[in-house]
Amino acid sequence: MKRRVFSGARPTGRQHLGNYLGAIQNYVALQDEYQCIYCIVDIHALTSLEDTSQLQENIHEMVLDWLAAGLDPKKSILFVQSHVPEVMELHTLLGMTTPLGWLLRVPTFKEKVKLQPHNVNYGLVGYPVLMTADIVLYKAEVVPVGEDQLPHLELAREIVRRFNNIFGDTFPEPQAKLTPFPMVLGLDGKEKMSKQLDNHIELALSPEETLERVMTAVTDPARRYRHDPGHPEVCNIYRLQQYFNEFKSGGIAEQCRRAQIGCVECKELLADAINTMLQPFRQRRAAIAAEPQYVTDVLADGARRARLIARRTLKEVKQRMGLI
Ligand code: SF4
Repeated sequence: MKRRVFSGARPTGRQHLGNYLGAIQNYVALQDEYQCIYCIVDIHALTSLEDTSQLQENIHEMVLDWLAAGLDPKKSILFVQSHVPEVMELHTLLGMTTPLGWLLRVPTFKEKVKLQPHNVNYGLVGYPVLMTADIVLYKAEVVPVGEDQLPHLELAREIVRRFNNIFGDTFPEPQAKLTPFPMVLGLDGKEKMSKQLDNHIELALSPEETLERVMTAVTDPARRYRHDPGHPEVCNIYRLQQYFNEFKSGGIAEQCRRAQIGCVECKELLADAINTMLQPFRQRRAAIAAEPQYVTDVLADGARRARLIARRTLKEVKQRMGLI
């Protein structure tokens, strides 16, 4: 039997190149080797989301992107976290064995307190417990993570160990699958690509819109005129060329250093490469979007399959805890 993978992502709406290179392409690659459970974690989003008017649309757009990128609902379970309410019950039960001190020490909690001092809600401190419930409700053994997320997973493993010590072996300790999630910088060349910072390129843009966005990107700040030799190693456009124009990128770097190519031309090459690579994705997306019921059906079927596993686990947990 295939080992089970779990991964969750917040409903951020239309996905961008950073999401694709950093997560979605790995999600697609894992589908053949593992039984994958991919969850849109809408409850987690509520810890920092005060305006929820876009939530449903964001979920719909995100699933469209995931499906168009190659996530296959026949191979993987795709669902929305709140559609499987058992996760909230397990969250409460795990909360009874998780020391508060562990949660108050989590660096991301402290960062969130600084970021949103007007909204320091319980969800922020309970986040690692809910995250653990997300994983162990499905008895997932493998969690794909980037190196920066390892401490979160380690805390989940501690929560699992403590529960198993008190009530007997119930959950597998989830193992990290370190995946090469490249950190893709945004068009500003400074921060991670993000919708919030508006430095992103959405996968679903038209070729013209993609070119327009690429043209706004910051390049080598030392290259002020066309005849100035450039420094591709400090230029974010060059980094993106390495992903999307892999075979031409060496030549582009050389031409840049010798001032044989201008930044406008270089950006046009990049936009062309992005558009070529994303053409099949965009065609699939348009076809899926033409049948809006399809996304709803995929999520309903995913929640149904996820609930079958969730109910079994929750029953076992309650028996172990003496609740039934
Ligand atoms: Fe960057 Fe390309 Fe301009 Fe060189 S030519 S500085 S790699 S955008």
